[in-house]
Amino acid sequence: MPGRQRHVHRVSLPRVDRFSRRARPIHRAQAKRAVKRAALRDCGRRCVYCGFGLEWEHATLDHVWPVAHGGTGDPGNLVSACGRCNRLKGDLLPYEFFARFPWAGINFLQFARTVNRALKRSARRAVSLACAAAA
Ligand SMILES: [Zn+2]
Repeated sequence: MPGRQRHVHRVSLPRVDRFSRRARPIHRAQAKRAVKRAALRDCGRRCVYCGFGLEWEHATLDHVWPVAHGGTGDPGNLVSACGRCNRLKGDLLPYEFFARFPWAGINFLQFARTVNRALKRSARRAVSLACAAAA
């Protein structure tokens, strides 16, 4: 009903709410930048999958265990990656990705030093299985 909708728009919010609504996205953007900065530093300013050096503007944050599969924004689950590798990985689980692209797993083991131990362990397993299959 258009009449009712117009009425909803006219309801004014208390001053405090209006302020926090505007302030929140700024904080979120700052927090996101800080997380990206830390991930980029921890990964040696490289894409952990292809190993190429990354400039700030080309760096993307990758959730090693994808958000689509319940991965969190925990620093141990975040790495820096180039857009190309990030798209290539998509929503694949890390071991699926490394089984398909062992080179990505080899680079990951070398450059993603600060990721969770469990992620490293499963990457190591996936890479050795893939290499054994290729041999
Ligand atoms: Zn890459």
